[in-house]
Amino acid sequence: MKLMEVVHVTTRFAGCRIGNNMNYEQFMQKALDQAKSAFAVGEFPVGCVMVFQGKVLVTGSRTGTTADSLNEIDHAEMVAVRRFVDLNKDIDPSGITLFCTLEPCLMCFGAILLSGIGKIVYAYEDVMGGGTRCDLTKLTPLYKNRKISIIPNILRKESLELLKAYFQNPKNTYCKGSLLAEHTLGQ
Ligand SMILES: [Zn+2]
Repeated sequence: MKLMEVVHVTTRFAGCRIGNNMNYEQFMQKALDQAKSAFAVGEFPVGCVMVFQGKVLVTGSRTGTTADSLNEIDHAEMVAVRRFVDLNKDIDPSGITLFCTLEPCLMCFGAILLSGIGKIVYAYEDVMGGGTRCDLTKLTPLYKNRKISIIPNILRKESLELLKAYFQNPKNTYCKGSLLAEHTLGQ
């Protein structure tokens, strides 16, 4: 049953490969749509989509950044990875590309690595909390031996503008006055 589902996906999307910037931008736009939905309800605007063979498997957007729900777990990537697990489909995670509008933090990068996801594409660098530039060779074998490719700066400007709009609104208090806010507002 599960095998048949995978074959179906393969057949239907065999002609749509993620191998150039145009396709990266197409899926990053979908991640930006998620970020915009977060922004619309006063949440920190970060969005994520996970793609396999040209198809969006799951989406995620940041929650937990408003005063009544503050937490550092419900990051867009964690939401998406959880939804992928809940799909319970027999999909090789090394074939998945995770698109996110902000560089993943250390928590999310760890979850992405442990999940065996093959590629991260992100829009805007997180100069304060980005975790993807840590040297994996200095870590223990579980992390050291993971194969992952990371593509930055896809639709960077669009993500930057959204984050700038967030930080410019005095009602938004999450990460207010932080290094990330200063870096973003200074551009
Ligand atoms: Zn994160």
